[in-house]
Amino acid sequence: MQCPQCHQQVDDGEGFCWNCGARLQQEQPMADATRVAGMTTPPPAAAVPPAPSAPGAAETSVLPPAPAPVYGAQEPAYDPSMYEETVAGPIVGTSSVVPPAVPIGDATAPTGAAVPPPAMPPMTPPNGDGGGKKPKSNRGLIITLIVLVVIMLAAIGFWIWQSAHANDTAEPQDSSSQQQTADDTSSDDADDSDDKSDADAKDKKDDKDKKKDAKCTATPDVDVDDLTANGDSLVATLSLTAKSCETGSYAEPNIEITVKNDDGDVIAAAVYDFSKRPITFEDGEASTQIAFNSRQHWQPADEISSPTNAKVIWQTNQKGEGKASGDVSGALGGASIDTSDNERYAQLALKRQLNDDASQTSQFYSDYTTQLSSKKYNMNINGKAWKYTDIYEQFLKLHYKHPNAILIWAADYYNYTKHGHAADYYVILSGETFSRADDATAWCSANGYAAEDCVAVDLE
Ligand SMILES: [Zn+2]
Repeated sequence: MQCPQCHQQVDDGEGFCWNCGARLQQEQPMADATRVAGMTTPPPAAAVPPAPSAPGAAETSVLPPAPAPVYGAQEPAYDPSMYEETVAGPIVGTSSVVPPAVPIGDATAPTGAAVPPPAMPPMTPPNGDGGGKKPKSNRGLIITLIVLVVIMLAAIGFWIWQSAHANDTAEPQDSSSQQQTADDTSSDDADDSDDKSDADAKDKKDDKDKKKDAKCTATPDVDVDDLTANGDSLVATLSLTAKSCETGSYAEPNIEITVKNDDGDVIAAAVYDFSKRPITFEDGEASTQIAFNSRQHWQPADEISSPTNAKVIWQTNQKGEGKASGDVSGALGGASIDTSDNERYAQLALKRQLNDDASQTSQFYSDYTTQLSSKKYNMNINGKAWKYTDIYEQFLKLHYKHPNAILIWAADYYNYTKHGHAADYYVILSGETFSRADDATAWCSANGYAAEDCVAVDLE
């Protein structure tokens, strides 16, 4: 007979296709008459790719032996130059400007500079001598001058301190009026710092007015706030910082956004067009949501251990493949990345998924579960060759439908290899646990799977 999935010739009486792991229908190893009432109604349309209606001729035997996945062969390679390191905006740094030396030449000492000097030089006025002495007029004048100089230095110290904190405090100009005289009489370059704060304040105001609709093109610094599933999509909530954007809108097209989990694996990537829906910055900060469809992300949302530790790579001038995916509940959809890159991430994800899920298979040595799919790389079903992206997508969709669903490599399990076959294909199990095969079979029909798509299995 022929396998309904891959059309391979198989021996009569086999339970599974040796080539692709599909269930062979004529054999009913688990079936018996003890079905639960109500489970005998014909199941609705299958959610898994349907079996081909018209088995083709001998074309199937030319399927090349698909290579077992090359695990870990390639690491995603990024051109580091593509990654634009975010550069601090021009506003940063003014608060730490230290003013140049202040000329003290003919500056008149401010009369009311009684403020405690934080940067007071370790000089104390020699005025500790009671006052009983009658100083010579010369000496008196010198002491007076020294006192004046000290007071002036104190005022300058305070003024430096004040300038340094001008941007941090709400009222940068209040106390500087005390030094108005000194400021006015000193040369222009002494006022750099004050001028700068003045200019900053003015710039800020101007920017707010003129940049409200201004385009911002700076590459933002991005943090991940959340990664959650929405249907079959992964929705990322991002916090963006771009100080130079101030209050403007980011509307760049062709932005490739790549997400890595905290193990450094690429788990999502797509290309977005923000000209369709610009990101609005407010004081250099913004928040946005983007969606990765089921072919653009490679880890189920519920298995991403610490979403806020995920890293985002933001690349400009990237080209997407085909049309952008639709938005998902307000999260911007994107176009897929280059097909070969996409395939590589899917292949690596399949490898990781097999590793992650291997620990969960032991329970099915004693209990039953249900097999929802088996797919061999590059196998042809109804004219479509199944690639890694297709296989991982099917796993994701089934996992979102059945949160316990796991992926296994058939060759690792005796029940697929016991007849001497290579069993080089992926199998998706529902992960549901049944003590009896009947219950497993009943679960298949209760969940709407056709008999050829869903079958009770116990691993060996
Ligand atoms: Zn087959």
